[in-house]
Amino acid sequence: MVNLNAPLTSLPGIGSIFGRKFEKLGVTSIENLFYHVPTRYLDYSQVTKISKLKIGETITIHAKVISIANIISRKGLRMQIGSVEDDTGKVQVLWFNQTYLVRTLFPGKLVSLSGKVSFFNKKICLSSPDFEILEGVDAPTLHTGRLVPIYPETSGLSSKWIRRTILNVIKYPKVNLNDLLPKEILTAKKLVGLKESFQMVHFPENLKEAERGHERLAFNELLFTHLKSLYRKSDWQKNKSQFALKVDTKKVNEFVKSLPFTLTASQKKAIDEILSDLKKNIPMNRLLEGDVGSGKTVVAAIGAYVSYLNGFQSVIMAPTQILAEQHYKTIKKLFPKLKIALVTASRFLIPDSSNIFIGTHALLHSKIDFTNVAFVVIDEQHRFGVEQRTHLVKKSKSPHVLTMTATPIPRTIALTTYGDLDLSVLTDMPKGRLKITTWVVPEKKRSGAYKWINSQITDHYSQCFIVCPLIEESEVETMEGVKAVTQEFESLKKVFGKLKLGLLHGRMKAKEKTQVLNGFRTGKIDILVTTPVVEVGIDISNATIMVIEAAERFGLAALHQLRGRVGRSDKKSYCLLFTNIGGGNPFRRLKSMEKMHSGFELSELDLKMRGPGEIFGTTQSGFPEFKVASWSNYELIKETRELAEDVIKNPKTYPKLIQNLSQAIHT
Ligand code: ADP
Ligand code: MG
Repeated sequence: MVNLNAPLTSLPGIGSIFGRKFEKLGVTSIENLFYHVPTRYLDYSQVTKISKLKIGETITIHAKVISIANIISRKGLRMQIGSVEDDTGKVQVLWFNQTYLVRTLFPGKLVSLSGKVSFFNKKICLSSPDFEILEGVDAPTLHTGRLVPIYPETSGLSSKWIRRTILNVIKYPKVNLNDLLPKEILTAKKLVGLKESFQMVHFPENLKEAERGHERLAFNELLFTHLKSLYRKSDWQKNKSQFALKVDTKKVNEFVKSLPFTLTASQKKAIDEILSDLKKNIPMNRLLEGDVGSGKTVVAAIGAYVSYLNGFQSVIMAPTQILAEQHYKTIKKLFPKLKIALVTASRFLIPDSSNIFIGTHALLHSKIDFTNVAFVVIDEQHRFGVEQRTHLVKKSKSPHVLTMTATPIPRTIALTTYGDLDLSVLTDMPKGRLKITTWVVPEKKRSGAYKWINSQITDHYSQCFIVCPLIEESEVETMEGVKAVTQEFESLKKVFGKLKLGLLHGRMKAKEKTQVLNGFRTGKIDILVTTPVVEVGIDISNATIMVIEAAERFGLAALHQLRGRVGRSDKKSYCLLFTNIGGGNPFRRLKSMEKMHSGFELSELDLKMRGPGEIFGTTQSGFPEFKVASWSNYELIKETRELAEDVIKNPKTYPKLIQNLSQAIHT
């Protein structure tokens, strides 16, 4: 028997050339092939006789070829014209640019033809029908005469090939199509069997059936996604932490009281959740999610404080030097008595017996001894690769880990992709934050907008960011990207003649970056021209205008994060989204920024309109997409999550599933 997770090429008739083509479609195993579901179906199911043909209908006929020939029309088109007949009459057929047909459709051949009935030369005809040669009058059809699936294709691998391959595999008796779900679950959830579902998706009798099959495959896909993340979670929890911390509530409360502000309700809740994790001897693995400006740093700081009170150290890792330095300043101010270290590629300040290490990925390569680190914070976690995060955690001994993100994660993604993490969400903003007035600015209003910015800066002492998009989708800034932003900088200098402009991009030396940023912070620079990669986390409260060039290229969540760079004081703030698109869905998507001010709503909208890759922007291009399931089906995602939890809790109820799981999970 061949198992579903066996490579596709282990089947007869699928060699390495074919295998490589399928690989381009993400199909490497037999299972992948079955999960390569159609994007749509052509309805060729109405089989009829030639005498009954009606103009405009899409039908199938079975007929015998009488003639076929290549001709060149008066307009110079290469056409193949022929005629076919059945026992009720004759009809004309024609194709364009398919000269090979005359070598296939010999007179006398029995064919099945599917397509639309139309007119040609004042006669009824079938124009460019799909066809297949029939072995006999009642022979089964694959490409005609039914609901015919259209698949995602690649060069050299048409839907026709894919259909044929799937048919061969589904008929191949040695493939083990055992269902891993017990019958009771199938009945309870009204699901069809696995083998049946493959049949229904790829060879449906009707659309309803296709949908039923689709539903079952989506169920499986989601269930396995959940099971994988729950396994990751239980793997993590097998680590015993040596850092079951004591929480000195009195001291924590004193610290909270010393803050120049009162914590928001959700900050308090997040802190409670974190502190109760820290007490356990299972290491924490928690994601703290909150809009820019929602106050994640102070929440993390309290964790670090508790670790310090227990005599241990903490590490805070940020994706960029600017952010690391900002955290360094903030934390130093919060804890004047603690010894804080700063570790970046260019700065290395490590006091003896430091209590908190703050730095960039330079922390990973440093020789600092982390064995006494009980609490690890990873800020803007999606900017780091999985290996970097794991590396940091492995440097210390099963510490408590808090990852943080300003990316609003739609609830369906939180349940699946982040399903192994516990989640704390900052849902409310600190008091007194004003809404940022947002305008989508079309090209023709550009010069007007520049004038307005000019007057805001000169008359109201405001400061302005101008963000230019990356040219290419890539994690690091390319030289072209740097050139483009530099050019833009030069031309903006002419536009804003009297004002001081600064330029910031990822290829600059750390020292230059700090200089420019300090210039902006101290008000020596009025307008900061920058790329988005540089720094989303910087906190400059006098900046009140955010201009984003070619805004349509960004995901809404990314735009929202950039917008969150302004509006950090009691001064009215503005966000101007420049674009040269004038209508359609992309434009409406941008316009939603004018009305919506919640990162969560915006990311849900983006998920609906553009898919999950967009929410995390360019750095998360490897974001796992579902093949069958839909991100918007919250109910199904929740239902399968509950089942997955039950499987983990009661493995004896699901013997087949559990047996196959360890194999499937660890691949
Ligand atoms: P982010 O969640 O984007 O990392 P920060 O932690 O940088 O946000 O906080 C943004 C600003 O808000 C900081 O200046 C911080 O001191 C301030 N802040 C944090 N919590 C509160 C609060 N509860 N009330 C008022 N200001 C706060
Ligand atoms: Mg932050």
